[in-house]
Amino acid sequence: MMRLQTSTSLIAFIFTAACGSGGTERSRIQGSNFGGGAISGENNVAPESGEASVGGHLFTLKEAQDLSPLVMDYKESSTKAQVATQDATQNARRDFIGETLDAMMALEPHRPGRDFTITVTADPTPNASALNQSVVVNRGIIDFASNLSLAMVLCHEVAHSTRNHSSRAEAQMNDYENKNKTKSDTLDSTLSKLVAANYDKTKKIFSHKKEDYIKVKPVWDDFWNGFVAFQKRFESEADVVGGRICANSGFTADEVEEGFTSLFEKFGGGTVAKSIDDKEYPDIELADIGELLHKIYASDSHPTDAERAEQMERIKPAFKQGATKTIAERWKKSFPGKSGLTLLPYHLTSGQVRIHHQSPLDSVMIRRTQSRIGE
Ligand SMILES: [Zn+2]
Repeated sequence: MMRLQTSTSLIAFIFTAACGSGGTERSRIQGSNFGGGAISGENNVAPESGEASVGGHLFTLKEAQDLSPLVMDYKESSTKAQVATQDATQNARRDFIGETLDAMMALEPHRPGRDFTITVTADPTPNASALNQSVVVNRGIIDFASNLSLAMVLCHEVAHSTRNHSSRAEAQMNDYENKNKTKSDTLDSTLSKLVAANYDKTKKIFSHKKEDYIKVKPVWDDFWNGFVAFQKRFESEADVVGGRICANSGFTADEVEEGFTSLFEKFGGGTVAKSIDDKEYPDIELADIGELLHKIYASDSHPTDAERAEQMERIKPAFKQGATKTIAERWKKSFPGKSGLTLLPYHLTSGQVRIHHQSPLDSVMIRRTQSRIGE
């Protein structure tokens, strides 16, 4: 059964390689001034290569409470961010987000902080992403979510950065590939044949044939199912760490939960499965086919919405409201352009919501696919 997944997590709890630094201004995170590597040791952090296999990809309450540090010493991944353009009409929002994240990162539990670059794009897709220290927020998610939910989305994205998910993902990816060379090579050669048979380089038309995809699917799954387990663990971790960062910043556990779950309830719904029809993709560059294949095969990189909601309930006691409530109070009262916490009655179809479902892991795989496909 072929499935086309158009939105895993609508709310874009996604860290993507498609975020960038172009057209952005630097948001100074004061917390980084503490520097000096005050954080030493990681309590209860599973070994890099074994994270996914220890207790599955979800967190117990104890794991959520014990996870430390919330903010690691910064380590950049080699994945390069693509350029995302700042929407000049959104500068006030961008600055407010930047100031808020500055204040959050300056809190003691968040040492050594982060130096974020914030970009608010004109993209109407409700999405946000973080790669290394670059946070990209689409205008769509700001317009779309309540400001409470938006705070949680940002905390989640920030957590991807503070836990160095981009660089850790790369390390895990390499480790996994090294241990699964045969599967990896088989997948590469199978995909190369698929593309070679269906891509007209001159006309730049990719004719996608359902029966071909069905044949390749088991090979794809054989490699990817083991691989996405890491990614799911990172997503769970970002929910845990993001929730704790928001709580430290003055949001109550109820607000953290509400911010997350209202997104799932309103806009989640998990995987949208569709059958694939034979179709031609005109004007497609060879380089884009890797991404297309990811969309078609859609190995779930996120836990299901139900898993995340259950986890949120389970780990709620880990969200202890910080003594300083000013950051949360200010956010709730004064986020520019937000009239309140009420969600707009959007009726989104999968066609309208085009989630850019791409993570650093995906991008590494895509690069790898590109480097071998048809070249
Ligand atoms: Zn995420």
